[in-house]
Order: sequence, then structure tokens, then C-alpha cells
Amino acid sequence: MLNYEQQEKWSKIVPNWQSPINIDTLHTIEVNAQEKILSFDDEYRFINIVNKGNNLQYDGKGKAIIEGRTFDFQQLHFHFPAEHTIDGKSLPMELHFVHQNMIGQIAVVALYVELGEFSKELDSFFQDFPVNESEKDPFSATLSLNNLIASLGSGVYHYLGSLTTPPLVKNVEWWVIEKPITVSVEQLDKLKKRFNHGNAREIQPTNGRKIIHYVLR
Ligand SMILES: [Zn+2]
Repeated sequence: MLNYEQQEKWSKIVPNWQSPINIDTLHTIEVNAQEKILSFDDEYRFINIVNKGNNLQYDGKGKAIIEGRTFDFQQLHFHFPAEHTIDGKSLPMELHFVHQNMIGQIAVVALYVELGEFSKELDSFFQDFPVNESEKDPFSATLSLNNLIASLGSGVYHYLGSLTTPPLVKNVEWWVIEKPITVSVEQLDKLKKRFNHGNAREIQPTNGRKIIHYVLR
């Protein structure tokens, strides 16, 4: 029960769970999802690209159903190298698909990128965009997260954390797709050359958080 006489202590009730974290696969909770945990509109439609200086943000529209709740897709951005690690292993890049629902909950779907085969699905996003810092340009592309994730045959890690850039908003749901998608060296270089200094936050302490590993169906 909340003690209204000692409200100064309330902040200690909410743990400061931050992101990104290392996912220790020996200590995840394995769950065989009985229903579809993650489902996305067949097309996310992208409309703008914004140069945030140390990132590019692709604004778009679309709906996701996450654990039976409807979320609006808002924007995609990325990090070099990947922010979440799995058993300490770091990958070259991580895409963040940011969603929000009507009551303000934030859910981020994180997709790893690894070097390998050319990606047709992601090619529109891996371009040497001319847009200057702090400017916004029209950008037209579509993407099917459903197809992309299904093609990976991947599970997903789920835990509660924060945004990884200030203001580091807490209570963010993370859905980290286990298997990476591949892009070619040429594709990666088109984006990466603008962000040579990197834009990944350091790994944060897990502090006893539960990490669930869902086998997707
Ligand atoms: Zn991010």
C-alpha cells in the first residue's frame, strides 16, 4: 500500500531499469508462445527522413499488435554498433522500430544487422542520403516487418528497460529479435560512413530483471 505520509520514498519503488543490456541466454525464461506475440501491418509506410546529427530517423505510419495491444509505429532509427549484446557478443548495427500506444506505453522492436547478403527489403533505407543536419526531407518507402521477421525464423527476447538516448524514458518494452538480418558491405558503408564515431549507449546493469525468450510462431 502506498504511504502518502512518506511520498519522498516513492521514487525507490520504481527501479531504475535502463537499456541497453547484455542478454545472458543462460538466464532467460523460455516461453513457447501459444498465440502470436508480435504482429505488424503488412506495410509500414515511411514518409519523412530527419537528420538528427548523430542519427537518421525515418518517420512512418503503421499498426502493430503486441501481446494483444495495438501500438502505432512512429519511427525507425539505428545504432552503430548494436546496443544490446547477446552473451557479450556485439553485432555491427541495430535497428530500432519505435511504437507507442494510446496510453503512452512505448514498445521498441530491435532488429540486429549483420554483414552478409544484400538486403532488398532494407535497400531503400541504406542510402547515402543528402539531407543536412537538423533537416527533414520527404522519404517514401514501405517495409513489412511481418515478412522480415518471419523470414529470419527467429525468437524474440523481451524485457523492461528505457530509451537509450536522453531523456532515457523508463518503462519501455523491448522486443529484441534474436537473429540478425544481413545487408551487404556496400549497403552498410553507405550509412556508416556518416556515423564513424558510433552512436551506441554503453551496456547497463540488468539488476535482476527477468528476460523472457519467446519462440515466435
Ligand atoms: Zn535507439
